[in-house]
Amino acid sequence: MATKITEECINCGACEPECPNGAITQGDDIYVINASLCTECVGFHDEEACAAVCPVDCCIQDPDNIETEEALYGRLATIHPGKEFPALAALPASLSRFRK
Ligand code: SF4
Ligand code: SF4
Repeated sequence: MATKITEECINCGACEPECPNGAITQGDDIYVINASLCTECVGFHDEEACAAVCPVDCCIQDPDNIETEEALYGRLATIHPGKEFPALAALPASLSRFRK
C-alpha cells in the first residue's frame, strides 16, 4: 500500500525532508504524498520514514492503494535512474519493511 497522509496532518513539515524519494510536498491544506513516487521506503529503510517522524501518526498505509513489494521496488529505477540498489531477491531486511 502506498502511504498516504490523512486530514489529521498539522502541517509541521517534519516528514518532507525525510522522504528518500521526494514524494512529499505541502498541499493547499495538508502535506500530500505523490503515490507514484512512494515506495513505502523500500530500497532505503525498514519502515516508512514519514510515519516514523510524524508527531500525530497521520502517515498511514492507504487501504485503497495496495501494492506489492515488487511493485514498490520496481519504482526505484524510475525515481533514481543513476543509483544502484540490491536486487529484489537480495534486498536486506534493513531496506524493506516487508522483510522485518
Ligand atoms: S513511505 Fe517513504 S517513500 Fe513513501 S512518502 Fe513516506 S517517506 Fe516517502
Ligand atoms: S509529519 Fe505528519 S503532521 Fe507533520 S507535515 Fe508530515 S504528515 Fe503532516
